[in-house]
Amino acid sequence: MKKVLLDLSYAELAALTESLGERAYRARQLYEGLMQGKKLSAIPIPYAMRERLLEEYEEEPVAIREVFTSKDGTQKFLFELADGNLIEGVLMSYHYGKTQCVSTQVGCRMGCKFCASTLGGRVRDLTAGEILGQILAVNRREGGTLRERAVGNVVLMGSGEPFDNYENVVRFLRNLSAEGGICISPRNVSLSTCGLVPEMKRFADEGIPLNLTVSLHAVTDEERRRTMPIANRYSIAEILEACNKYFEKTGRRYIFEYSLIEGENADMVHAEKLAALLKGRPCHVNLIRLNEVKERNLQGTDEKTAQKFLERLTELGISATLRRSMGSDIGGACGQLRAKYIGK
Ligand code: SAH
Repeated sequence: MKKVLLDLSYAELAALTESLGERAYRARQLYEGLMQGKKLSAIPIPYAMRERLLEEYEEEPVAIREVFTSKDGTQKFLFELADGNLIEGVLMSYHYGKTQCVSTQVGCRMGCKFCASTLGGRVRDLTAGEILGQILAVNRREGGTLRERAVGNVVLMGSGEPFDNYENVVRFLRNLSAEGGICISPRNVSLSTCGLVPEMKRFADEGIPLNLTVSLHAVTDEERRRTMPIANRYSIAEILEACNKYFEKTGRRYIFEYSLIEGENADMVHAEKLAALLKGRPCHVNLIRLNEVKERNLQGTDEKTAQKFLERLTELGISATLRRSMGSDIGGACGQLRAKYIGK
């Protein structure tokens, strides 16, 4: 595979432009073209400059191959990378705008029992530019520009564990919010991790104030180990400590994802234990009924149980919401679409 221009910051693109003997303003043209989601051949730069770049850099590192639209308006995208690998993403419409869910790896090696992304293990990490490219391609397709973005919020909740691809993800986050680019602020970004404690702590020191989200899905280490292998490595106590560090460094409250799984973590006792665990912490709980994945024999709870769980948490003083499940008719959950394609 050739290199990816979108991995570079503006300063790095400027240095590259200079090394090609081109005038400085060409760097701005190149940068803006890339940020508009254009392929290299469609960016108005001199022919010789383009040819030189094409020798080393991909023409189109992330291409939209298919788009599926759900009854509820959610769109699911299948992207193809330059080496032929497939990844997926989702665009959800909310009253406050559109939120795009991006992948950070091809596959995943965390092995969560309820997740389709991990079925075939991890194939490779995405580069920073391959993560950004998903957003730029969708923004362009949706008619967005750099002044008026079609994508307002970004969640790193597609396939992959962001902190298992730490350097590229941090580089992506810096390029995502850079002035003059697509300029999406960390405050409009949620990063979800299964709880890689050392990286969570390291990330606190980066000073990137986003919405740090941790996939908890259980109230004790023992129960967590049943569905999340990573719980054998790090305890819930260590995760909470890392969350505290993030809060101290950034002033941002953190969020816990809790997928309600029938017969596993969704009894009233669990709601009470969860409340006891989180009481008084600057956090929020996002409940979601598990999206059933055909290859896994775990099921989500019914809507009523989910509502009761939410009510109990709220009664006990925990800030919580129940997320609507969107796009379930188009394989909306992590890794479902890619798994289907690879299966063919
Ligand atoms: N690797 C990261 C981010 C990707 S998954 C993480 O583990 O947080 C984004 C969220 O979707 C996580 O909370 C994950 O646990 C959850 N998830 C995965 N499969 C799911 C399913 N079938 N139904 C509901 N949530 C699921």
